[in-house]
Amino acid sequence: PEAITVSELANRMTERVADVVKSLMQNGIMATSTQTIDADTAELVIEEFGHKVQRVSDADVEDVIQQVEDAPEDLEPRAPVVTIMGHVDHGKTSLLDAIRNARVAGGEAGGITQHIGAYQVEQDGKALTFLDTPGHAAFTAMRARGAQVTDIVVLVVAADDAVMPQTVEAINHARAAEVPMIVAINKVDRPGANPDKVRTDLLQHEVIVEKMSGDVQDVEVSATEGTGIDALLEAIALQAEILELKANPNRAAVGAVVEAQLDVGRGPVATVLVQNGTLKQGDIFVVGEQWGKVRAMENDQGKRVKSAGPSVPVEVLGLNGTPAAGDVLNVVDTEAQAREIAEFRAAQAKDKRAAAGAAMTLEQMMSKA
Ligand code: GDP
Ligand code: MG
Repeated sequence: PEAITVSELANRMTERVADVVKSLMQNGIMATSTQTIDADTAELVIEEFGHKVQRVSDADVEDVIQQVEDAPEDLEPRAPVVTIMGHVDHGKTSLLDAIRNARVAGGEAGGITQHIGAYQVEQDGKALTFLDTPGHAAFTAMRARGAQVTDIVVLVVAADDAVMPQTVEAINHARAAEVPMIVAINKVDRPGANPDKVRTDLLQHEVIVEKMSGDVQDVEVSATEGTGIDALLEAIALQAEILELKANPNRAAVGAVVEAQLDVGRGPVATVLVQNGTLKQGDIFVVGEQWGKVRAMENDQGKRVKSAGPSVPVEVLGLNGTPAAGDVLNVVDTEAQAREIAEFRAAQAKDKRAAAGAAMTLEQMMSKA
């Protein structure tokens, strides 16, 4: 940051605020604890206290977690990452369950108790990754944090209902993210089901499905009966092939947090979707405002794994704090780097919140006046 408050500076030097204020005064600067001083003044004070100045900037962070462009020859095919979206009650959760139960990698259908926020299934020997976080809020939150994790959106529309507000919202999300859509017309088992009504409804939102001579794949399914699931997975695999998704498994991992929580027994736990490179046990990483060292990893079936390549979701243990969904994970070389970046980001976020808070108070004062 270009500036820091007096109290924050004192805090970071573990010096008393009053002493910092005094030091500033001796340098001809009158400032209270909540006032902001510029970086050069802060540096002067830091040196007077006999501390070493260590400025971390956005550029430094970029240097450490540099996203080297991968050479084309280093790229290998990777599984598509699929998000299911649609209006409430149209069957997103049911469809995720139906897919999981139909095609759990390893064939242990129904035997899955572990739940890590994402899972992989196999289609013709190739993996497909599903994000188990239906819901547009999650999608938007992740995009807002710079994590574009979805390659394909499956838009669920109930055949006994119609295109609803959240259906339109989902279409808009997919468009904004420039992610191709596949329409799953669900609940075709219902007495009042009318799949063609869904197809014509969608025309009004410029979604022209194949049956209407467009190029958006449409598949009729029943999540509860388990019908059409194969066809849907085939459609996804076909779409993935067109996208020619690739990543470089032989580099430091970059990933995105799908979900994270503080586990009573295990500490902070995050489900991370590896997006590029391979995440390995022992890797040191920074993730949003947190950092850590991979102590252990479990795959979507609850099995311990030592490494996870592109498009593979894993649960990661060894974090020093709980990150937020959508935070980007970068493997770095040293713990010092990881800690420094995490602290720099945390301080930046704090400054931002403080600024927002100050603006708020001012606004409140104005409105009361
Ligand atoms: P979500 O809100 O989009 O996640 O929808 P849910 O998966 O929770 O489903 C909402 C309701 O619709 C539940 O009662 C489901 O059992 C039911 N449902 C979902 N899919 C189907 C289906 O294919 N056929 C029928 N008959 N009911 C379904
Ligand atoms: Mg649901």
